[in-house]
Amino acid sequence: MAEARIIPDHRKKELNRIADFVSSMFSDKNVTLLEEIVRFENLNLYVDHYENYFDGMLVYDDNEFHIHINQDRGNDLHTNRGRFSLSHELAHYYINEHRIGLQSGLLEPHASFTDGGNNDPIELEADYFAGCLLMPFKKLYYFDTVKKFSLEKIKAISESFKVSLLAAVIRYCQTCTQELMFVVSRNNTVEWYDRNDHFPKWPFRFKVKGSLPPTTVAGEFFTKTDAKFTTVEEIEPNDWFYPFPNDHRANRKMNEQCFYSDGFGYVISLLWFR
Ligand SMILES: [Zn+2]
Repeated sequence: MAEARIIPDHRKKELNRIADFVSSMFSDKNVTLLEEIVRFENLNLYVDHYENYFDGMLVYDDNEFHIHINQDRGNDLHTNRGRFSLSHELAHYYINEHRIGLQSGLLEPHASFTDGGNNDPIELEADYFAGCLLMPFKKLYYFDTVKKFSLEKIKAISESFKVSLLAAVIRYCQTCTQELMFVVSRNNTVEWYDRNDHFPKWPFRFKVKGSLPPTTVAGEFFTKTDAKFTTVEEIEPNDWFYPFPNDHRANRKMNEQCFYSDGFGYVISLLWFR
C-alpha cells in the first residue's frame, strides 16, 4: 500500500543530496556512469548467473564490498534493469546506515529485487536513492525532449537516462508538478500504486491485491478480448475513484494510458487530468 511506502521528507532530501552529488561527478549528459562509480569506490563487481535468488546483492567480506548482479534475471551492465539493480546496491553502499550496518554485522546481506513494489524501509530507501542517482532532479525537471505528458514522455526519459519505463514512471511521478498517479497490475489484480502530492486523495474503486475496476483501460484489457489500447484514452474520474462531491476536479476528464510489459506480465496505467 502506498501509505506504508512512505519515506519521511527530510530523509528523502538527504538521500537526494547524496545521490545528486555522486551522479554529478560521474555522468555523461543524462546517463549516470555506474561502472565509473564502482571503480572509483574500489568495489568488487560480479555480473554472473545466480538463478532466481536476487537481482542484486551487496556483501561485506574481508574488509571489502562485493556487489553481485544476477544475469539470470535480466541484469547486465547495459540493460536498464541491470543499471537499476546496480544503482540499488550502490545505494546500500552510499547510505551510511546501510553500509555501516553491513560492516558491523547489524544488517545481514539481503537479496534485492528490482520490481518496484518493495515495502521494506531499507529497500524503499535504496530504490528511492537509485532513482535519484539515475535521474537527478534538475536533469529530469528540465528534460523537455517531449513537452506534453503522455507515455511518450516516459519513453523518452527511459531512453535518455537509460532506465526502465517503470523506473522512469516512479521518478517522474515524484518530481513532476502535475497531478499524476500510476497503478501497476498483473492478471487483473492491482499489485501496487503511487500518486504524487498534487493528485487528489480520493478513495479508490480498487484494493491492492484486489481486481481492477472493470471500466478502466487496464481492467478492460484483462477482461475483454481485443481491448489492448495503447493510446491516450479519455475516462471519467469515477472509473477509478470515488471523487469527493465538492471537488471541482471530479468534473474534469481524465486520461489513462497503459504500458503492457509482455516480458514481465504487468501493466502500468498512467492516470492524469486532461
Ligand atoms: Zn536491497
